[in-house]
Amino acid sequence: MRRSPWISALAALALIGPAAASELVVHAGTLIDGSGAPPQQRVSILISNDRITAVVPGFSTPAGAQVIDLSRETVMPGFIDCHVHISSPLPGHTNSTENWLTRSDLNRAFDGAVFVRQMLQQGFTSARDVGGGDETTAIRDAIARGQIPGPRLWVSLEPLGPTAGHGDPRDGIDQGLMHPGWDNGRVDTPDEARIRVREHKRRGADLIKIMPSGGIASSGDAPNLQLMTNEEMRVAVETAHALGMKVAAHIYPAAAIENAVRAGVDSVEHGSFATAETFALMKAHGTYLVPTLTVYEIYYVAARDHPELLTPGTPAKELAYDPLPKRNLPLAIRSGVKIAYGTDIGEGDHAMEFGLLITNGFAPADAILAATRNAADLIGAADRIGAVKADHFADLVAVTGDPLQDTNLLEHVDFVMKGGVVYRQNGQPTAQP
Ligand SMILES: [Zn+2]
Repeated sequence: MRRSPWISALAALALIGPAAASELVVHAGTLIDGSGAPPQQRVSILISNDRITAVVPGFSTPAGAQVIDLSRETVMPGFIDCHVHISSPLPGHTNSTENWLTRSDLNRAFDGAVFVRQMLQQGFTSARDVGGGDETTAIRDAIARGQIPGPRLWVSLEPLGPTAGHGDPRDGIDQGLMHPGWDNGRVDTPDEARIRVREHKRRGADLIKIMPSGGIASSGDAPNLQLMTNEEMRVAVETAHALGMKVAAHIYPAAAIENAVRAGVDSVEHGSFATAETFALMKAHGTYLVPTLTVYEIYYVAARDHPELLTPGTPAKELAYDPLPKRNLPLAIRSGVKIAYGTDIGEGDHAMEFGLLITNGFAPADAILAATRNAADLIGAADRIGAVKADHFADLVAVTGDPLQDTNLLEHVDFVMKGGVVYRQNGQPTAQP
């Protein structure tokens, strides 16, 4: 085939373009690049538009490039939280039932706009929302258009689950109350699972969340029971995968986890009652665990100190079950199952999970990998987030000191860049947000 000279010239320009133009260069004193490789000293990260074009040894400055001097800092990929609910207020600070019944979807959208800004300031440049309404797609899109600052978002919309399950908004309230969105996730047959997945896709979901077992922070359902049938799970997973969407599953009991893993879910959220056999099966299938220790810590304290603020009937469940995931984490680590970082909160401190993972058995370097490489892989975006390397988004965080020695630093980042734009510098928000 003959190509016109004009097309050939354009192709040549495209090839040399990125290397030629680097408007920004970050001089990193130490780089932890998200690959699992040992830290590198004195590295230059070249950036053009929103992407990294090259990572080179030494401090070099291409002609015309603006230098960001992080030569006394440790630079890492932007953090990724794989389990958020971006429009949810912090449990124990707000009355859960009052919040649920008095805030409209529009109120939630504005709440979420505040919480995503906080997440970005904490160093989270990407996140996966696994349970919310139309406000979550709206917030995702507003961030993507540059209308509000926040992490890149992948959203699931309402979790799919059965009548009277963990995701049924009517649990424990006056059965006469109604809301147009309250049945969006209801699945009581395999056919309904197929339809709901397709409806979620139509409404803009990036992934699907299912609720195969009961949960803790909800009235009337038991976390130790499997509430979706194996066939409902299988059809939900098959339909989602056919549409290019991954499936996250909220599950507690070991038998239900094993059924969900065999149905093909991509991640087990919480997984609190898993056994060594469960983790071995997950490892064999390549299923991720997202332990979400943060939410248990927060709810346990709330149940102890402010039970009146929690959903009626849940403080006793919180006190009984919330300590279990921490106790089970060493078993998960020993099993070699893949683990990704997740907090299960909206408002609040998303970096808290680092300390909880490390206190309960994670090596600091592995905690960073859970929030970068592993999280990017679970989301299905490892080709563009979760690592400091060429062709990835210029999503960077930096701390002053060595986060592998002083792990508290992970909870106090000094510098945040997302897509080549600096949102935090010298420990303060920039004018940008
Ligand atoms: Zn959750």
